[in-house]
Amino acid sequence: MPHARTKLAVAFALVATGLTLPAAADAKTTLVEVQATDHATLNRLEALGLDVTYEGDHRTELMLHGPEDVQILKDSGVPYTVLLDDMDGANDARLHTEGEQQARVEKGIAPLSTLPTGRVAYRTLPEINAELQQLAATYPDKVKLFTLSKPTLLGKTIYGVEVTRNVDAKDGKAEFLLTGAHHAREWPTPEFTLEFVWDLLLNDGTDADATRLLDKGRLIAIPVVNADGFELSRTLQNEQKRKNCRINAGEIPTAEQCAASANSNRGIDLNRNYLPFWGGPGASTSFTASNTRGEAPASEPEIAAMIDLLNAHQVTLAINNHTPDQRLLRAPSSSNEPDVVADEQVYQDLLERLARNLPGWPAGPWTDVYYEASSTAEQQAYYAYGAFGFTPEATPGFSGTQTFHPPYQNVIDNYLGTGTRYAGQTMRGLYYDAFAAAIDPSLHAVIKGTAPAGATLTLTKTYTLDSSRTAFTTGGPQEVRALPNALKSTLTVPADGRFEWHVNPSLRPSQYDDRFIDESYTLTCTAPGGQVLETTTVRLARGQVADRSFCTQGTVSGTVPATLSLTLGAPAAFGAFTPGEARDYSAATTATVTSTAGDAALTVGDPDGAHPGHLTNGTFALPSPLGVAAGTNAPAPLPTTLLTYAGPVSNDAVPVAFTQAIGAGDALRTGTYSKTLTFTLSTTNP
Ligand SMILES: [Zn+2]
Repeated sequence: MPHARTKLAVAFALVATGLTLPAAADAKTTLVEVQATDHATLNRLEALGLDVTYEGDHRTELMLHGPEDVQILKDSGVPYTVLLDDMDGANDARLHTEGEQQARVEKGIAPLSTLPTGRVAYRTLPEINAELQQLAATYPDKVKLFTLSKPTLLGKTIYGVEVTRNVDAKDGKAEFLLTGAHHAREWPTPEFTLEFVWDLLLNDGTDADATRLLDKGRLIAIPVVNADGFELSRTLQNEQKRKNCRINAGEIPTAEQCAASANSNRGIDLNRNYLPFWGGPGASTSFTASNTRGEAPASEPEIAAMIDLLNAHQVTLAINNHTPDQRLLRAPSSSNEPDVVADEQVYQDLLERLARNLPGWPAGPWTDVYYEASSTAEQQAYYAYGAFGFTPEATPGFSGTQTFHPPYQNVIDNYLGTGTRYAGQTMRGLYYDAFAAAIDPSLHAVIKGTAPAGATLTLTKTYTLDSSRTAFTTGGPQEVRALPNALKSTLTVPADGRFEWHVNPSLRPSQYDDRFIDESYTLTCTAPGGQVLETTTVRLARGQVADRSFCTQGTVSGTVPATLSLTLGAPAAFGAFTPGEARDYSAATTATVTSTAGDAALTVGDPDGAHPGHLTNGTFALPSPLGVAAGTNAPAPLPTTLLTYAGPVSNDAVPVAFTQAIGAGDALRTGTYSKTLTFTLSTTNP
């Protein structure tokens, strides 16, 4: 990149001519002013990586973070004057006074402000994190505390809250993302984010809008994305810090390194480190530039963690809060994006609707009303998910030391649209309208229908996002890299089996023209036990509602009627009995058994009351009883149990053996001795 080469050449020239750079220990933030206000000059200063902080009608301010910045401005040839040589400490007295007033408010001896919480001073990072925990404890059914998937470079946990009714349910509500402090010194942004959380909760049940939003939508609020940088700025160790704590590519810094004044202008601009268009216009390779892109797309853990969050949710609208430039911005944010995006009219209409909360503020694509920036949060929201991303630049109108965090009364006034400076210009109104747009199904897509209660529906999609055409390493080729991205979000089917899932369209806005890329989600339906019941695809355009039933295919069923069936084979016959001769006669038949019962018994008995168990011929009966057995079992007199079954059985052919003893002295009458027996198949466990 030209910027890096320029700086290298300058440093060399200085050494060669014997000039000396200020020692690192002298590094400080210096406020300067240039008289130029034309866009060409300002864009050039921005492109050089300088921190242009205030654009007035007749003059422009820059903050120079150390000697490298001073030299770059000198080399630019743009004349400047120093307004404040060392900005450190300039706000100390004011912040001390505000802090004392807050302490009096908390003791009940000073009046609350008109904010939902009544605060009168900026929160510190520990206060913000404690407040998030307090919210979750106070509203356990409406607020869930979570942490991002990765800590900051210095190991700080990044906290957020989800806010909705029945917050633990994976219920498919549309999600609205509100983030603060991508840029460290922009202290009003965590204030706005937290006040809006309280606003919804305190008005739930009494205000129709707040109640409906918590019924239908889910707010994801992350007050401080850049926790390392915010801590340094808010504790006044490096009050005008913008970026994160990265000092050198690929190295984890220590807290001491990040706080060192020699490193005050190092770091990565977290709003230049997302995936789409990474490395494009308005993103510098220099680690000391105000808009440093980082060594690779999502190289910074804070942004990798934000992408993890977005990939696992269905955020339909995202607001990335900033100060102080009096704008409401949408994509495109860089000139290598399509001039006309796929959702041009819908996106622009929505912007204009939201901008009514900020009358008089320029609203439009960055490329029309602001400077350029690449791999911003809006680009991630829009090109990775088809979600509508916006950047407000709030609490405008201040310069010098107060540029990024003016006196706290301005936070109060801009949140509510009160006072003279921000009369009618309300961040609260912006958030309420944005949340309402996030849950408007005509602006996203819906999958609804039926599925087994308790089943998990999972939507996945894998694809690549393109970087800008850039050299990824110094001296490397200019190239566009395809950056893999994978989405995975889930819903649990409610007890009534009916679900409604508010999702982003599966069709994705092209990074190159005004068309959509024809993509579908893969939807997997999983039983509560983890068994995958169905995998299918769902293709959704913006505004589309797909009404489908899932997990209904692939099962084969049959019903078994209760059955106890017994079939007897051919009648058994002993043949001829010879009188006067002792002999055992035998005969056989089969019984065929089918049972669906849990157990069964095959018994045989003789219903004849006169000569039970004996063959008869008219009124004559044989003296010896008839013996019966199943298979080779020992013959037994009637009644007897032939066989038992421990479970169901089908078509079991049971050989039934009959025996009849005739004694030498037995008197036999001419004719046929016979008996009709009763075979019974019975169960105690049908
Ligand atoms: Zn910012």
